[in-house]
Amino acid sequence: MNAADLVALDDEWSTHNYHPLPVVLSEGEGAWVTDVEGRRYLDFLAGYSALNFGHRHPALVAAATEQLGRLTLTSRAFHHDQLGLFCRELAELTGTEMVLPMNSGAEAVESAIKVARKWAYRVKGVPDGKAEIVVAGSNFHGRTTTIISFSTDETARADFGPYTPGFQVVKYGDAQALEAAISPRTAAVLVEPVQGEAGVLVPPPGYLREVRRLCDEHDVLLIADEIQSGLARTGTLFAAEHEGVRADLYTLGKALGGGILPVSAVVGRRAVLGVLRPGEHGSTFGGNPLACAVGRAVIRLLATGEFQERSRTLGAHLHARLSELVGSGVAEVRGRGLWAGVEIAPGGLAARQASETLMARGVLCKETHDTTLRVAPPLVISQEDLDHGIDTIADVLAR
Ligand SMILES: *Cc1c(COP(=O)(O)O)cnc(C)c1O
Repeated sequence: MNAADLVALDDEWSTHNYHPLPVVLSEGEGAWVTDVEGRRYLDFLAGYSALNFGHRHPALVAAATEQLGRLTLTSRAFHHDQLGLFCRELAELTGTEMVLPMNSGAEAVESAIKVARKWAYRVKGVPDGKAEIVVAGSNFHGRTTTIISFSTDETARADFGPYTPGFQVVKYGDAQALEAAISPRTAAVLVEPVQGEAGVLVPPPGYLREVRRLCDEHDVLLIADEIQSGLARTGTLFAAEHEGVRADLYTLGKALGGGILPVSAVVGRRAVLGVLRPGEHGSTFGGNPLACAVGRAVIRLLATGEFQERSRTLGAHLHARLSELVGSGVAEVRGRGLWAGVEIAPGGLAARQASETLMARGVLCKETHDTTLRVAPPLVISQEDLDHGIDTIADVLAR
């Protein structure tokens, strides 16, 4: 089947909850992918950070292959020989005390919400059923019914009510608004240290530190959603490190599965995650042997610090070069490390058109909203390939 036939097949048989670029991929290696007609493209999106280590990183494929030859699934009815090691190694890498393994990012966020609520009732002493969680506007934490209940994106939220109560939404980056929303019933503040879906929004300097201070002052948990910003994307293991901030709970996903399978987790303090008892939470596939084996290989890659370093140095180069485009078709560039939101200047191409033109020129990235291109190449990318992608963006956006 050719590309057009395959697109038609998707259109007919798959629900229309996405609007993909019209490219049909069949192979990938490192920072490059190939479509069914043999055309090669530079991947400048990296599966929204799920592919931080590129396509089919040899160490990750080897770990998966080895585990496929031994044991893939037990359910949590039995112990297996990968779970404890995965949890210990992830806790050691992240400087935390306990790990709750799940699968998708949304499940990790749901899990953190449940844990924070139980902590509020059993430890903080919030009256039963009254716990509140403060979140930021323009957030993205996933697609479940509870999570979209506190989304400010009407496309994500409308028509899916009734909504889960217990959330207060305040402006992202506004610590005063956050303080005003905190009450004795507040269990947690849930925040992305950098908002990815919103267009790679970096909050004002000092914001996360102030959020941490307010949480300490009011006995409120800080939950950092590092599903997209974490695991080396911004040049550090966690994006919150740029402000020297530690969260009580972190939600992790995307890159934790090495681009091979969904692996997510909540990691954090024993005094919080320790509230869960048998039967209160779980997932058939959460912490399965294959997921743990791949996750352990991801942890080994991150423990070298090599990817954090690549994101720092290549990211500095990316931002230096993109900022030169401001005034030539670009209004603003935001981001940290090898991660950028490129705001197209008014009167330029719509972001969707820009993505399609880049695709035709062999560079894959994706618009977010109408005017922003999101650039997030795999952290394995060479400087030469990075420059090729930036040159192409400069050319397509130039006015
Ligand atoms: C992608 C993402 C999620 C949801 O992850 P899924 O695996 O798609 O459920 C949650 N939070 C953030 C910050 C994300 O980027």
